[in-house]
Amino acid sequence: MTRASVPITGPVLLLGDAMPSTMRKPFNPVKAAAVQAAVERAQTGQASQVGPDPALHSHDAELRWVEAVLRHRLSLHSLGRPIGIRTRDDDTHPLVADGVHFPAVALSISFADRTLDFLATYDDRRRLIFDLLAPCAQCGKPVPTEEINSLGDLGDYLLQTRDGLGGSPRLRTSPAHAADCLARGD
Ligand SMILES: [Zn+2]
Repeated sequence: MTRASVPITGPVLLLGDAMPSTMRKPFNPVKAAAVQAAVERAQTGQASQVGPDPALHSHDAELRWVEAVLRHRLSLHSLGRPIGIRTRDDDTHPLVADGVHFPAVALSISFADRTLDFLATYDDRRRLIFDLLAPCAQCGKPVPTEEINSLGDLGDYLLQTRDGLGGSPRLRTSPAHAADCLARGD
């Protein structure tokens, strides 16, 4: 069963009285759009198509390019208002697993009530991927928790429908864990 075909009964209930407290905070256009995308994906079994990523034209502009890809994957341009993203090199994670020369890219989207932190790295198929950083359940350090590559993924995360996501493969290998953290794999 693919991720998109997993039947979800939760969001319909979650949009009612049982909506998580994080969703009740001041209106947030990104969160609202993300939740809508997740619910639509659950109902139709199909993710919305956003088309190919923007192209990287100059390596000097890689940080800006990574930011542009995140904006594209999350369809932020469609929200009709500017969404600020802070983009910088990540001090902890490599851009490529086992790499040493290039740092991963850290991206933050700030809202009134919280900040969403993303980490951009390349997976083993050399595809740029985004993970949402969240405190490790064991050591509390910010580690890649869920792979978020579409607005629907973000909606599933915000709705806590973790079964529809499955966790980031980079959670166990993150060098951000405390040295003795049990969540860290070999
Ligand atoms: Zn940990």
